[in-house]
Amino acid sequence: MTRARNRVCSEPGCPNIQPAPRCRTHQSARDAHQRRTTPTKVTRDWIERKRRKEAVDAHRRAHGNWCPGYRIASHRAEDLTADHITPIDRGGSPRGPLAVLCRSCNSRKAARP
Ligand SMILES: [Zn+2]
Ligand SMILES: [Zn+2]
Repeated sequence: MTRARNRVCSEPGCPNIQPAPRCRTHQSARDAHQRRTTPTKVTRDWIERKRRKEAVDAHRRAHGNWCPGYRIASHRAEDLTADHITPIDRGGSPRGPLAVLCRSCNSRKAARP
């Protein structure tokens, strides 16, 4: 038989005592943080960010602040972002080619069924 040993929350300054390494509040805060920072780690490392930024910069040099449009006509857009032509969760390679779209076109594309 194993008996849970109570311990102080490992969050500095938190006096809560429970069997887990962290109290419920700090464990859920940590989980939320990890969900934000790690789910698609492969695509979020700095090389990938740099690659996306370069794709956007190259697009700006060639076309200016202009979104090619996704399911809508091309239009002027300041908030250009680069994203995978084939999203990773649909089988695209994390290092696959990038397409530049504005933020709203990109989320329209991401929401595609
Ligand atoms: Zn705590
Ligand atoms: Zn757009």
